[in-house]
Amino acid sequence: AAKSLGRGNFQFFSAEMNTATHERLMLENRLWQALEQEEFELYLQPQIELATQRIIGAEALLRWHHPELGMVGPDRFIPIAEESGLIIPLGDWVLQRAISLLDSWRAPGLAHLRLAVNLSARQCHGPGLLPHLDRQLHSHGIDPALLELEITESAAMQDPERSRTLLNELRSRGIKVAIDDFGTGYSSLSYLKLFEIDRIKIDRGFVKDIESDPNDAVIVAATIALAHSLGLEVIAEGVETQAQRDFLRAKQCDEAQGYLFARPMPVAQFEAMVKAATAPVAAV
Ligand code: C2E
Ligand code: MG
Ligand code: MG
Ligand code: MG
Repeated sequence: AAKSLGRGNFQFFSAEMNTATHERLMLENRLWQALEQEEFELYLQPQIELATQRIIGAEALLRWHHPELGMVGPDRFIPIAEESGLIIPLGDWVLQRAISLLDSWRAPGLAHLRLAVNLSARQCHGPGLLPHLDRQLHSHGIDPALLELEITESAAMQDPERSRTLLNELRSRGIKVAIDDFGTGYSSLSYLKLFEIDRIKIDRGFVKDIESDPNDAVIVAATIALAHSLGLEVIAEGVETQAQRDFLRAKQCDEAQGYLFARPMPVAQFEAMVKAATAPVAAV
């Protein structure tokens, strides 16, 4: 009986693995085509200045319109793109798209907007990032300070020396640098000592339980104070309730982003939202 159970288990697991491997292979094969066929789109999620409630910019979040599967989120394909190397051309596409958006925002009511773009580990440590950025910035002639690049602690800590050089190169161009998912790695404090940055993004995991978990409340408040005393700005991710927003505002958190304000949305919708929010009252 034990033997047949073992065999049954083996078959069960191998069928499961086949499904996972199959999906992975299917997505990987399609990903390369997807880039050529322009199935990717940048969604934008507004970032809010807490003191004024104004939209000061957005984070660009990648979406894939798969012809059969519908909308596929980045958590499902970024790791595959990263492993297969597609992340390099895909990351270049994201940057190019983001910079041309900033270019198109030189219009009344939009010219102040900052745009944040996520960088993956492989993109940070590859040789092509800076030349690509330089070409794009030069051909569009935008103010580099309107572009912010988000790097996670874990990506930066894969090769701290290289990351340090990269971040200095970015900042010497006037590009802003933010640490994404701050607090989720094991190196958050050494990170602050090692790297020159502009902003930290407090991870959603700490914001989520601000109201119910006194430890999280203390950690968030202390992180904001620490960042400010080091001259850094702070944005909180994943803000979903008014109580979370009020807590963050009381602790002087500079900015926030989350479903309370808006979900990630198509570019046109974001632009309409910004224009509506800044339209003169007399026009109503
Ligand atoms: P991230 O950079 O930490 O982005 C924040 C994620 O939290 C986004 O998920 C966003 O939709 C989600 N989010 C925002 N507000 C809330 C909220 O109030 N509640 C909840 N539950 N979630 C919220 P998304 O768009 O699925 O992206 C997931 C991750 O994929 C990103 O995490 C980022 O690491 C990666 N990613 C997205 N776009 C790109 C890209 O262009 N390049 C690279 N390398 N990575 C990307
Ligand atoms: Mg991010
Ligand atoms: Mg994040
Ligand atoms: Mg995250």
